[in-house]
Amino acid sequence: MQCRGETPSLLKRGTGFAMQTEQETALGAYAPLMLEHVPTAMALFDAHELRLLAANTRYQALLEPQWQHGHALGHPLIESLPRAACTEITALFRRVVETGVSSRMEAYAASARLNGTRYWNWSLEPIAEQGQVRYVLLTITEVTLQIQAQKTDKQAETALAQVQQELEMEQRRHEHMETILLSVRSIAEPQAFAHALLCAIDNCFSPHLLAFYSTRSEQETLSLLASHTPEYLPQETPVLPAFFAGTGGGPLLQARQQRTPLIRRTSQERETSQKGSWERDPLLVALPEVACVVYLPLWRAQGARCEGVLVAGFVREEELDALVVPTLLECAPHLAEVLAETRLHAALADERQRLRTVLDQLPEGVILLEAQSGKVSYANPAAAGLLGYALPHLVGAPLNQSAVMSPYRLPPAHQQSAFRWNFALIHALWGKIIVNEEIVVSRPDGSEIVVLSSAAPIRASNGLITEAVMVFQDITAKKQLEQQKNEFFAVANHELRTPLTTVLGFAELLQMRSPEGADTMQQRAISRIAEECEHLVRLIDELLDVSRLEHTRLDLMKKYHDLLAPLSQIVATQVQITSTHRLHLTLEKLEPGDCLMGWFDLLRIEQVIRNLLSNAMKYSPAGSEIEVGVRPRRDAQGKEQEVVIWVKDQGMGINPLDMPHIFECFYRAATFDRSSISGFGIGLYLTRQLVQAHGGRIWAESTKRQGSTFYVVLPLGTPP
Ligand code: ADP
Repeated sequence: MQCRGETPSLLKRGTGFAMQTEQETALGAYAPLMLEHVPTAMALFDAHELRLLAANTRYQALLEPQWQHGHALGHPLIESLPRAACTEITALFRRVVETGVSSRMEAYAASARLNGTRYWNWSLEPIAEQGQVRYVLLTITEVTLQIQAQKTDKQAETALAQVQQELEMEQRRHEHMETILLSVRSIAEPQAFAHALLCAIDNCFSPHLLAFYSTRSEQETLSLLASHTPEYLPQETPVLPAFFAGTGGGPLLQARQQRTPLIRRTSQERETSQKGSWERDPLLVALPEVACVVYLPLWRAQGARCEGVLVAGFVREEELDALVVPTLLECAPHLAEVLAETRLHAALADERQRLRTVLDQLPEGVILLEAQSGKVSYANPAAAGLLGYALPHLVGAPLNQSAVMSPYRLPPAHQQSAFRWNFALIHALWGKIIVNEEIVVSRPDGSEIVVLSSAAPIRASNGLITEAVMVFQDITAKKQLEQQKNEFFAVANHELRTPLTTVLGFAELLQMRSPEGADTMQQRAISRIAEECEHLVRLIDELLDVSRLEHTRLDLMKKYHDLLAPLSQIVATQVQITSTHRLHLTLEKLEPGDCLMGWFDLLRIEQVIRNLLSNAMKYSPAGSEIEVGVRPRRDAQGKEQEVVIWVKDQGMGINPLDMPHIFECFYRAATFDRSSISGFGIGLYLTRQLVQAHGGRIWAESTKRQGSTFYVVLPLGTPP
């Protein structure tokens, strides 16, 4: 306890001031002035009754209006105090008087009759005289501005802390996003994507349970791709679907249909259960320790379907709304994009594998050459087998080395032909398409094979050639057979023709110099020998023609001349030598002296007409009529464009089933009795080749039991 020593004599005491010394008098004159100008409200109370002895204006201004302007002087403290604060403040004063110890009150707030709350620091100082507290000096300093400033500082600090917290959260969100998105980068398979994603989310948020369901594209159903389940649950995949089994998909399907996350909380469930009907979340039921489950559907930004659903269960909800859900939500479209891409990649890889398997199984050789490196990027086993290399030596080898690579160094004599198959690929790299080119390949073991190869460039979407492909098959056996056939034909031509020509010559000689007395039977026999010989010669000619056609085109000796006169001549000659049928020529829109000018090989046109006439006679009964017709086709100006020639018989016609095939080589309708008909089924084939070689076309029409009509249309030409 500490009391003030001297009593200040300058204070107003009741009704006036007691002056003691001159010096004191001088000071006393100025003391009120000083007191009025201190920034503190001051008041002196007597210790006994707590009456106000003296007070400066600042103090009085704090009182209720009726106590201002000196009206409170001499009155006890309690009268001028607001009722509410009266007891508390009086008690303070009393304690100061009793203890002699000053008392302070910091930032005392008051708002009565003042505009807004104002704050003061109070102090009560005991003033003692002769060891006893006689007075109490009250000083009140307003600290409203300081307090307000402090408050503003505090608010600013709080706001700053909040901003800092938000920034930190933002930073963590970004870090987590980076972790999650980087984890699924360059993954090419959906299952691997799901595992990587769950590991990343586990690292970031350590959830109690994690699972990823992917949308199956074919069925639009969800299937579990990966899961991190609590230890006490079996890690096998069927566990999680089991949670949803009874609910028909429940929250999982509900989440898939919305674009925002579905969050199920235990607290929420309690509330909902109190309200009435509700469906419990199967995961929350199965795992009581889980406080909340987030179902996050993954939609691509522009996507029309949900790619999958991520399920995460948390034991605590802290940071769920501020960190976990916003992070996952922001990641969702990117994850959906990556998942869709991985699906595409996986499908492509599957497709590529399937294609590879097919190519590997092909009996034809397939080689792919990369344009940039010039290396064989793919070759199937058949290709390696055909070319005589081991597959590993062929794939990856630069093309220009494949023929001279160790251990297959070819003797120089063979290198030229070994390179020939390379040329097909090189041409394809230049943009050329090669179709069915025969190439002789010399193989490292010295053997030679003939391959039929086709090659083509492979272009990227921008049109640049990235690869060349070559497909080839071994036709060595076929070539050998062909050669044998040709040799056979050459021999047959010579061996058959020579005796036939001799027989025919003698038969004609006998016909011309029929011996005296030769009876009709002998005459008929001789002419029959001649006829059959001619028929055989024609057959041999046809066979040779077909054989020639297989190798090259028929060489026509076309000349510019009239067709009508020679055509009429052919028919007239045929009329003379045909005894079995009634032949006649019909001219439509033509006069006998007219001309049909064009480019024709007359011998070949004659062969066409003779073939058609011979068939008409072969396939129609003896005595029936055969018509050869000619008609020009004119353009709008009346100029002849084409000539239509037809041969119409009254035979049994052509079966509609045979019709599409009669122009094929060696085709003979099965419907005829073969015994009476001689031929190899090549006549019409040859006829069509000849017509087409003239730029024309041929077809047949047939009505049941009304015979067949063969039409030939040949173009007429302009003069040279
Ligand atoms: P080929 O007469 O030697 O059998 P073609 O090539 O000349 O061979 O004729 C092919 C097939 O077309 C014949 O086998 C025959 O079935 C049918 N055919 C050809 N011409 C006639 C025709 N005028 N009337 C009925 N069928 C015909």
